[in-house]
This record gives sequence, structure tokens and C-alpha cells, in this order.
Amino acid sequence: MGVGPGAVEDMAVARAGGERGSVAMTMSPCRFCGAPLQHVFADLGMSPLANSNIPRSKANAMEPFYPLCALVCSRCFLVQLEDFESPQHIFDDEYAYFSSYSSSWLEHSRRYVEQMTERLGLDASSQVIELASNDGYLLQYFVERGIPVLGIEPTANTARVAIDKGIPTRIEFWGVQTATAVAADTRADLLLGNNVLAHVPDINDFVAGMKIALKAGGVITIEFPHLLKLVELNQWDTIYHEHFSYLSFATVGRVFEAHGLRLFDVEELPTHGGSLRIFGCHDDDPRERTEAARELLEREHAAGLQELRTYLDYGARVIEDKRQIVSFLIDLKRAGRSIAGYGAPAKGNTLLNFCGVGRDFVDFTCDANPHKQDHLLPGTHIPILAPDAIREHRPDVVLILPWNIKDEIMEQLSYVREWGGRFAARSPELALLP
Ligand SMILES: [Zn+2]
Repeated sequence: MGVGPGAVEDMAVARAGGERGSVAMTMSPCRFCGAPLQHVFADLGMSPLANSNIPRSKANAMEPFYPLCALVCSRCFLVQLEDFESPQHIFDDEYAYFSSYSSSWLEHSRRYVEQMTERLGLDASSQVIELASNDGYLLQYFVERGIPVLGIEPTANTARVAIDKGIPTRIEFWGVQTATAVAADTRADLLLGNNVLAHVPDINDFVAGMKIALKAGGVITIEFPHLLKLVELNQWDTIYHEHFSYLSFATVGRVFEAHGLRLFDVEELPTHGGSLRIFGCHDDDPRERTEAARELLEREHAAGLQELRTYLDYGARVIEDKRQIVSFLIDLKRAGRSIAGYGAPAKGNTLLNFCGVGRDFVDFTCDANPHKQDHLLPGTHIPILAPDAIREHRPDVVLILPWNIKDEIMEQLSYVREWGGRFAARSPELALLP
């Protein structure tokens, strides 16, 4: 069957309008409300698991790729990935993200502890529980103040680092089952989770567990990257397999309400390119909803986050962005520039794999985390070296993959300017930085 010029034109028109690919290939139920998922938000093709860096000894082994396609629920507007692999596989012992390797994240956590201790009047009679407590990067600051803590962390190797530091930690996934066991001993005055809500496959089980483990009058704080920023600033590279849900304030509010909780306050944070810190309590708690919470709901509404059209139009912008990135890198290479990466974050792998950028563009990348060094990035097999490699190889351009901390990295690597080197990062378009 031939395809006439008219058909090609029709396809081009459909692509430009973001229509092509806007119907989901399967009809999984929404993770929150159960409605069938029929609409594509962003289709990033086939991609390896973003945090599965490859040891050099396995460089010639076969590597699994999975579809990376974010869908949107037309009933509750939860942007989400379909199930593709068990979380036990994703978060196994090889999972090497140690929060304590980021100095800016440690400072963010220290300030949070200071602020919450004062706001909630926490002391030696209080109980703080953190979900996904990692290596104890945050709870250590409560311990310093003599405030009792409990960490819940499913990744054994990071949890053991916390336990060795004297931070009580249960090596478990969070949900109703773990919450019931915890609540038999203690309930939380402050129950917190940073960058975990978006990563849980069963968001209902997770939030139902928070209801169980929260003391009467207790407060929940949760931080997650804000969907509004992902949409407005083209942060599609923050989509990766370990990140199941992409959350707006309105949609998280619906999830909390379905489980006998409600949101009463919110703070907007610069972390991860724009995050929310939401404040929740039991639904019968007398706290009043703040002006900040009311204002953010209005702003999300004005940005179209309660309209399907907004989500369906996003895919075309992602494809246009890919063309810009590839063309920027081709121009650099044609001008004879050498490019090294900096960082090996999940978002870097989404970007490099979706754009087809491998060692033909980027000679190597660097990461301060020794657990990532001497590995290859998944899919692209770009080698991860220690940061000293930048000084040794003197690249013309350093491509900063974790664009959310680009200022911190440019300061650390300021010596690159000694040989006329430049930095490049997305902000939101990929460009050389001044
Ligand atoms: Zn839904």
C-alpha cells in the first residue's frame, strides 16, 4: 500500500499539533483513581533504567530497555508511567544514590530541620519519622538536637550507612503493612518524605500508610518536583522509570483527601528545578488552609493543569526540544569542540538516551560519588570518571547534566575557564552559559 504526498502532509500536520501518539498503546488503570489511561503526555521512546550504571566488566552484556512514556489520567490529571518492572528490581542493592554526596542537599535538609523544630516545637518527647530516609542525611540533624527519629528505607546499602551512624532505620518499603507495624510502637508528630511520593508504584497504599502512622495533631511534609515547572520549563528529562508519578498540588490534594488527610499549606522550593513542600494533617484537624495553598491552586488552574488539552500539547514541545539539543551539539562538534559531561543523574540519562547522544558527542562524564565512578552510563555507555578527569583532559565544553545545581557545579569547576573552557546546560533551552 503506497503512501501519497497527501498522507505525508497529514502526518506532518498531526505531529505538529501533538496529535500523533496521543492515544496510549495500552489501557492500564490510573494509579490513583483507576480510570483507564488513554492519553500520552510525553513519549520518550525506549530507555534503560536511569540509575542502572553499568560496571565496566559488563560493558559487553545485553542491556534491558523499557518504554519511557508518561500518560495522563483524564479524570484526576495524575501524570504517570505505566508499570513495566517490579520496584524490587529497581531499588535493589546496586542502587547507589547516597544523598550525603550533595552538599547543597545537606544544607537544604539542615535548614528544614531547624525550621520544623521551631514551627512544631519538637523536643525529646516528639517522634519524627522519615520515609525513604536514605543514608540518614536529614535525620542526623534531628538526632543532633536530641529529637527521637525513625527512618524507613528500602535500599539496604544506604540504610546500613544510616544505622552505622546511629540512626534507627527499618529496611522496608512504606505502605499500610509497614505503617501498621510502626504504629504499634509509635506515631509521628512529624512524618516526612522527600522525593519519594513520586517514586512509589502504589501511591494509594503509601498515603494510606501515612494516615495510620500520623499522631492526632501531627503534621506531614512531603517534597516532590512540581508538575507545573515540568510543564512550563520543559523539564521532560526529569521523567525516568523510577519516577512513577508527576504531581501537581491539586492532584496530591485529591489523593490525600481520598485517605482521610488534607493539605493545609505549601512552600515553593528551588530544589530539583522547582519543588513543592506540602503540609498535610488529618482531615478533622482544626488547622486552617493558608493563603499560599489557596493561591497555588489558583495558579495551577490558570496554567491549565485542570484541562486535558494542556497535557496533550506537551509532546510536540518535547520533540522540538530534542531537535534543538541535537542541533546545538552538532554545531559544537562541527566547530571542533571537545565535550565532557558533568554528573551522572537520572535526568542526564533520559536526555542522552532520548536524544541519541553517546560518545560520538560526549567523551566522558564525571561524578563525585565514588559508587558511580568506573561505571558506564546506561544505554549510551559514556564512561563515568572522577572529577579530576576534567582538569586532565581540558575539554572545551563541560555539559552539566544536573542543570538544577548548575551554579554549584560551575563554582566547583571554575578552573575550566583557565583554558578557555565553557559550560553548557539546559535552562530551559540547552545553551552555553555566560
Ligand atoms: Zn486518575
